[in-house]
Amino acid sequence: MKNDCLFCAIAAGEIPSSKVYEDELCYAFYDIAPQAPTHFLVIPKEHIGSVAEVNDANSGVVAHIFEVIAKVAGELGLESYRVVSNIGEQAGQSVHHLHFHVLSGRDMTWPPG
Ligand code: AMP
Repeated sequence: MKNDCLFCAIAAGEIPSSKVYEDELCYAFYDIAPQAPTHFLVIPKEHIGSVAEVNDANSGVVAHIFEVIAKVAGELGLESYRVVSNIGEQAGQSVHHLHFHVLSGRDMTWPPG
């Protein structure tokens, strides 16, 4: 757990969140400022700063997170959804702990803004 990391604190239950799913490796919770009718985030419990810090030693949790996304989306009945991870300031990353947005329930445009 990294000091002063909002999502480390959320994964540890120190800051309240609206839980969607949890296991020993990851935590999923609804976004506080939803950008679609369904918008939740999936994060690893271990601190990884972003996709840019994924490597041979920690990539297993990323594969696991995608399994979780498929499972939770299925359980929520999502038939179409978008998975997004922003890396760095220009791409819009505001929290520096790896997270995957799962957005669903409205028409989406491409390319994203
Ligand atoms: P990003 O801007 O891609 O780094 O995504 C960070 C996301 O975290 C944003 O969509 C925020 O709305 C969301 N967020 C920030 N604080 C919280 C919180 N306390 N609980 C749930 N979501 C949050």
